[in-house]
Amino acid sequence: MDQNIYQFIDVKRIEPTKKNINKRKKQFVEIYEDVSDKQAKSQADRCLDCGNPYCQWKCPVHNYIPQWLKLANEGRIIEAAELAHQTNSLPEVCGRVCPQDRLCESVCTLNDDFGAVTIGTIEKYIVDTAFKLGWKPDLSKVNKMGKKVAVVGAGPAGLSCADILSRNGVDVHVFDRYPEIGGLLTFGIPAFKLDKNIIKNRRTIFEEMGVNFHLNTEIGKDLQFSQLLDEYDAIFLSVGTYKSLIPQFHDPKLQNVTNALPFLVTQGYKNIGLEKQDYDLSQIKNKNVIVLGGGDTAMDCVRTSIRLGANSVKCIYRKDRETMPGSKQEVQNAIEEGVDFKFNLQPIEFLSDGETAHGVQFHKTYYDEIKKEFITKTDEIIELHADVIIVAFGFRPHNLEWLINHNIELENNGTIKVSKQHLRESQTTNSKVFAGGDMVRGSDLVVTAISDGRLSGKNIIKYLKSN
Ligand SMILES: Cc1cc2nc3c(=O)[nH]c(=O)nc-3n(C[C@H](O)[C@H](O)[C@H](O)COP(=O)(O)OP(=O)(O)OC[C@H]3O[C@@H](n4cnc5c(N)ncnc54)[C@H](O)[C@@H]3O)c2cc1C
Ligand code: SF4
Repeated sequence: MDQNIYQFIDVKRIEPTKKNINKRKKQFVEIYEDVSDKQAKSQADRCLDCGNPYCQWKCPVHNYIPQWLKLANEGRIIEAAELAHQTNSLPEVCGRVCPQDRLCESVCTLNDDFGAVTIGTIEKYIVDTAFKLGWKPDLSKVNKMGKKVAVVGAGPAGLSCADILSRNGVDVHVFDRYPEIGGLLTFGIPAFKLDKNIIKNRRTIFEEMGVNFHLNTEIGKDLQFSQLLDEYDAIFLSVGTYKSLIPQFHDPKLQNVTNALPFLVTQGYKNIGLEKQDYDLSQIKNKNVIVLGGGDTAMDCVRTSIRLGANSVKCIYRKDRETMPGSKQEVQNAIEEGVDFKFNLQPIEFLSDGETAHGVQFHKTYYDEIKKEFITKTDEIIELHADVIIVAFGFRPHNLEWLINHNIELENNGTIKVSKQHLRESQTTNSKVFAGGDMVRGSDLVVTAISDGRLSGKNIIKYLKSN
């Protein structure tokens, strides 16, 4: 029988079903149901194989998307998983947390008129199913290289570098100050977006591949960087960016104003059965919460507050809805869960008695068509009441005193300077030390951190072979 090349007209784009809203907003569990084999096959079959895979180019790790969609359609899941791992170290994570509407799916040929292929969902399906079938990376034919590399930071960048190094026979040691691997995958991104068992499973796989994890070990405190330089043949740095941006009018004495990260990290510890005292999560129950900011971190804070039993949750952004950086899908999920969004409000002050904030004062903003920017209207003041205020203004590189005196230069904004010429975009000014992820790019995405980690792993192999 002839193949139906117009299947994308007959078969519409179908997103995975979301769990019941009343249950979902009380639970720290992923909100999407798994797709059936039948649905995954028919959705994968919507790919036109258009011959010019823009999706592959837009994907930061350049996944072989049309090829693994075809394998998924044919039910050849193990081959699809093998192929997915040729370009991505954590495909099941990207399938869950990549902003596909800005990346691969945004350029799918079907996107404008028929709805893009559900690329992220199928990437997740392939790898989840392969794991259920017992698939694991096979390193039995890898020869030991006789070299030892230290990776500092077990976030997606560090894990991806470790993946490439171990597949090339390097003895890899990953150090992290946290008690579990994953970085922001474990302690930042909430469990309703990324189940923590996904990372636990990856840890088992990495350990079986021979990666050695040294957790609860902070470099610069528990172990000196100079010791790593003495003992290892090369080092990969991937410690992220952890300095929270705070408003100029912030007053640290205000007990009920917090930054996003201590709040999310405390919940992240709880999700894996550990305790952290950075923030008292019981403060949220029955309270009126205001979250300042409009990015994905703000979306995670509002949706976490809903699940902690807040009475009301408002998300306040200083520009308009179209300009808000939070992924459209996450904003939609937050609205469904009861979050009230307010736009064009620039915070100017906390209303307080000196110890406790009871609200925020704002100026209105509007878009000036001539100046092409948002302007604050100082003649109009709006006040909103809050019992708890969470600031989600983003992150900058934190202080890395332990790098000083090791010939590693920083850019003016505190990110690490990497070579644009030799071992491209990963070697620092100390030739033995490589770096990637948020600490080089500034706060970005999981998939770009993975891309950096993989590139650095390959560059480290070249460096080790020539030294
Ligand atoms: C709340 C939140 C939600 C996000 N949601 C998304 C999303 O949905 N999708 C998406 O694509 N991106 C998202 N991001 C961005 C994404 O998580 C990051 O871009 C990515 O994790 C960066 O990876 P990384 O490996 O560079 O750093 P991290 O993930 O930050 O990992 C760095 C690791 O280094 C460790 N470390 C730091 N200093 C030391 C030291 N001195 N010694 C030892 N270890 C150290 C840290 O403990 C941490 O484990 C989100 C970010 C945040 C904050
Ligand atoms: S890694 Fe991210 S951008 Fe690339 S195909 Fe997967 S979901 Fe799309």
